[in-house]
Amino acid sequence: MATDPDKAKPDANIIAQANTDSCDLILRAVAFAAHKHRDQRRKNKEASPYINHPIQLATVLWEEGRVQDAKVIAAALLHDTLEDTETSWQELRGEFGEEIADIVLEVTDTQWIKKELRKRLQVARARHSSEKAKLVKLADKICNLRDIGAHPPHGWTLERKQHYFDWAKEVVDRLRGTHVGLEQKFDEVYALKP
Ligand code: ZN
Repeated sequence: MATDPDKAKPDANIIAQANTDSCDLILRAVAFAAHKHRDQRRKNKEASPYINHPIQLATVLWEEGRVQDAKVIAAALLHDTLEDTETSWQELRGEFGEEIADIVLEVTDTQWIKKELRKRLQVARARHSSEKAKLVKLADKICNLRDIGAHPPHGWTLERKQHYFDWAKEVVDRLRGTHVGLEQKFDEVYALKP
C-alpha cells in the first residue's frame, strides 16, 4: 500500500529538523573547541595543532564506531576543553546544555590530584561512567595509542610509552561491553604496543 504523502510529510520534516539540529550542534562544538585550543599544539615532533586530536575522536566515533548520537560527537569535540583550556562547566552548560557539559566533566581528570593518582582514578571511575562518557573515553584511548605509535610525544622513552599502553588498557578493560566494535579497534592498536 502506498504511503499517504500527507502523512509521510511531518515525519520527513521532523527527521530533516533533527539532522539540521545535529549538524548545527556539531559545527558549534568544533568552532568552540578550535577557539579554545587555538594556541595549543600536540606534544609530537610535528607539534600539530591541538584541535586535530578532538576531531580525530569525533571521526573515530562517527566513521569507525558508527556512533550517530550528535551529543556524543559534540562531547568528543569538547572533551579536553575543561582539562586543558580556560573553560568552565557553566560555560559548557550555557553553550551546549547540561548533558554535554556533564559528559565532558566525566572525562576530565581532576587537575589538583597528583599525576599518578589521577591515572588510578581514571581506572577506578571508568566502570561507573555514563554510556556516552564511556564512548568518548574509548575513542580517546584509541586515538592516543595510535598517536603514540605513529607520532610519539617528543622525549618519551620506550618504558613510558609501554606504561601508557598498559594504563590505557586498564581503563578500557573497565568499560568493556560499551561498544564491541570500538573495543576491537582498541585491541588492534594495543597489539602494536612498542
Ligand atoms: Zn583527549
